[in-house]
Amino acid sequence: MAIESIEALNRCCSITGHFANPASLQHVFGEEASDIVEKSRKKIANVLKCKANDVIFTSGATESNNLALRGFALANQNKGNHIITSASEHKSVLDTYKHLECVGFDVTYLKPDNDGIITIQQVLDAITDSTILVSLMHVNNETGVIQDIAGFAEALASKGICFHVDAAQSAGKLSIDLESFPIHLLSVSGHKIYGPKGIGCLYVRNRKMSYLAPLLHGGGQEHGIRPGTLPTHQIAGMATALDLANKNRNADYENATTLQRAFIEQISMLDGLYFNGDQEHKLPNIINVSFEHVSADSLIIALRDEVAIASGSACNSGAVEASHVLRSMGIEGDRLYGAVRISFGRYTTIDEIIWAGQRICEEVTRLRELALA
Ligand SMILES: *Cc1c(COP(=O)(O)O)cnc(C)c1O
Repeated sequence: MAIESIEALNRCCSITGHFANPASLQHVFGEEASDIVEKSRKKIANVLKCKANDVIFTSGATESNNLALRGFALANQNKGNHIITSASEHKSVLDTYKHLECVGFDVTYLKPDNDGIITIQQVLDAITDSTILVSLMHVNNETGVIQDIAGFAEALASKGICFHVDAAQSAGKLSIDLESFPIHLLSVSGHKIYGPKGIGCLYVRNRKMSYLAPLLHGGGQEHGIRPGTLPTHQIAGMATALDLANKNRNADYENATTLQRAFIEQISMLDGLYFNGDQEHKLPNIINVSFEHVSADSLIIALRDEVAIASGSACNSGAVEASHVLRSMGIEGDRLYGAVRISFGRYTTIDEIIWAGQRICEEVTRLRELALA
C-alpha cells in the first residue's frame, strides 16, 4: 500500500481518530466518520469525473462486478434476456455470466483476436432485439491489453443498452472520463491502486436504484444498493490511493514504460520468446510472455523464492490450469503452457527489474538444457 493510504486508513482506526460508525449521525463522532466517507466519495468521483452520489462502496471489484451484472440483469429481465461479454474477462465477470446463464439468460461470449482485442463491430454484430447488457473490461489483468471502452460506450448508448466496464486494472492508470462517455456501470478495486484489499466501488450512473437489484438486504446504507456498515478506514485508504494514483498517473506510466523497456531488453538475450497480447495497445506494467520449450510451472517453481511471477490463473490443489484469457485469444500448445505474467509498479526499482530479468534468463536457459539432456 502507498504510505499515504496507510496513514489515511490508520487515522480512522484509533480512539483519537475517526473510529465511529459513519451511520451514527446522532453524535458528533459518527458525523466525523460520515464526513470522512463523503470526502472520500468526492475524491473518487473527482478522479472518475462523475457525481459523488453515483459512487457506491463495495468490498472490491469482484463484488462490484457481481452487483452490476446480476443486479442489472435481474432487475431488467422483463426488457430482454440477452447479455454480452467477452471470453477474456476476469472470472468475477465470467462466473456471474455463467450464473445468469443458469437462471435463463442467453449469453454471447465475444472472442478477442489473436492480440486480445475486441472490435466495436463485433459488439454491434452480437446485439439482438433482446440485448439489455454488455460488460467489457478496460484493461485485461493477464495481458495488460487495453480495450476501446469509449468506442463501445458510444456505440451502445444509441441503442439504449446498459454498458458495464470492469476498470479494476485501469482506474488510476488511464484516464477515465464518465462525464464524456456514456458508461452506465463501472467497477474499481482498492488494492490494484496501492490501496487496501477488501474495498472497492461501483459507479452507478444516476444511482438509479430501480435498475439494480441489490445482492444484499439490510440497513439501507448506500441507498439500499449495498447495505452494511461502511468501513471508514478502508474507504479513506482507497480514496487516498486513487487520488494519489491519479496525480502520479503520468509519472507512474513513464516509470513503468522505462521498467518494461529494461526488462524486455534483459530477457531479449534469450531466443524463442513470444509476447502475448497487443504490444501497442497495452499498459506497460503488465508483461505476458511465453518461453519456447519451457513450461510456465517449472519456471515459476524455479523462481518461487526470488521473483513473484505467475501464470495467468490461480492454481487449485496443485493443478495449474491454462489461462482462459490466452485460450480465448486462440493461443495453444507450448505458447499457452509456457506463458507467464510479470508485473511491476510504482515501487519497483530498475535494479530489481534487471536482476529479475537476469534470473529468468538463467533459469530459462537451465530448464532448456535440462529438457535437451
Ligand atoms: C483484481 C481484479 C478483479 C477483482 O477485484 P477484487 O477487488 O480483488 O475483488 C476484477 N477484475 C479485474 C480485471 C481484476 O484485475
